[in-house]
Amino acid sequence: MSTFEDFNLPKQLNNAVNELGFDKPTPIQEKAYSVILSGKDMVGIAQTGTGKTLAYLIPILRDLKFADQINPRILILVPTRELVLQMVENIESLTKYMNIRALGVYGGTNINTQKKAVAQGTDILVATPGRLYDLAVTGVLQLKGIKKLVIDEVDVMLDLGFRPQITNIFDLLKERRQNIMFSATMTEEVDVLIDDFFTIPAKISIAVSGTPLENIEQKSYQVKNFYTKINLLSHLLTDRDEFSKVLVFISTKKNADKLFEDLEEDYGHEACIIHSNKSQNYRIRSINQFDKGTNRILIATDVMARGLDLEKITHVINFDTPGYPENYMHRIGRTGRAEQKGKTILFFTEKEAESKSAIERLMSLEIPVLEFPEDVQRSSELLPEERPVIGDVKNSHRNVKVEDRGPAFHEKKLENTKTNQGGSYLRKAKKYKKPQKRGDKRQNLKSKKR
Ligand code: AMP
Repeated sequence: MSTFEDFNLPKQLNNAVNELGFDKPTPIQEKAYSVILSGKDMVGIAQTGTGKTLAYLIPILRDLKFADQINPRILILVPTRELVLQMVENIESLTKYMNIRALGVYGGTNINTQKKAVAQGTDILVATPGRLYDLAVTGVLQLKGIKKLVIDEVDVMLDLGFRPQITNIFDLLKERRQNIMFSATMTEEVDVLIDDFFTIPAKISIAVSGTPLENIEQKSYQVKNFYTKINLLSHLLTDRDEFSKVLVFISTKKNADKLFEDLEEDYGHEACIIHSNKSQNYRIRSINQFDKGTNRILIATDVMARGLDLEKITHVINFDTPGYPENYMHRIGRTGRAEQKGKTILFFTEKEAESKSAIERLMSLEIPVLEFPEDVQRSSELLPEERPVIGDVKNSHRNVKVEDRGPAFHEKKLENTKTNQGGSYLRKAKKYKKPQKRGDKRQNLKSKKR
């Protein structure tokens, strides 16, 4: 266990860190420090609350020397205006005794004021992706001097639909730079982004769960495929006393919609759903109804469920097995809170068995497998991504994109677009052009359908 003294920080930074009054670095701070100093690309998997902000700010500030150039050298991207403000505050408290400038820019406010601020020069620029890009294309902001790029809460950013803006920003940066990324959950989109833009990144992960494992009773079922999983879930849910407040996790919005539609027949009035393509009002309604007990089943994607404060959940159902063990830890941590014993059930297919083993290795605990109930029907219907593909490699999700582009896939895609409710994850996202248009498009499709 290290102390902040072991970081050997320059006096000014060390004093500022000491004034924050923390005893010792958190695990993510300890792990990230030397990696960031080494200059390697880094991916950190850590939730808010782990101390991840200081984990990258401290090593970055340690290396940042005074300079009076105009163009920023450090760029920090965050998904929301609130996070920009918070980040600038953090930087200001750490640079109290240093001669370092930090500036925050975000959408929804007058761009001209921000242009002027940018023109005055800064060392660190903290920004939301849309506004940053708008500033860069006006030519006021030069990004060629960026030596280190941090993307924080990247899972939320991608879930909000900011991939195009992020890609555009990458195009404006010099190739030689250090990339640092933090995400609370790993999603397929995050993985693709890393593959596309990062150079052999060092991965650091902090598996946190608010609940000690012994508080959670874990079980699992091996299930043939998606539709059989629906049959099994539907069967389990018939026991209304036992399954009285159930949070069902599923990785993708597309499959969340599909599951919701299929459950509707039996449990329509008891189930609700949230993911980032549902409008803000729709999501608030779902959460309230679930919290009050009007709906006893909530279907949620990993990213969306993160910020929810839900009490007394009897069961967390892992409808699919997360490919990243940390996501499983986040999921099951939603039950068994406040001294209560929680229960969690994992559904895994043959393909997902390896992911289950990875989770077990992380926990040093085996998840017992229950016998598949005889009275549950085994479906032979397959999702496009479950169908065998030529050259099938380890990641089934990716194969879908490349190889499974038959008519059924397109049909389903269109159908999903129609069922989406438009809007976006946070009200704040409205200020960005792209997501708004996408939301509008969905909204239009939806009204045409009616
Ligand atoms: P973050 O995960 O970066 O959002 O930080 C969560 C909270 O942890 C913030 O309020 C920080 O001030 C606090 N924090 C950061 N580093 C430490 C530390 N080493 N010890 C205790 N608290 C910390």
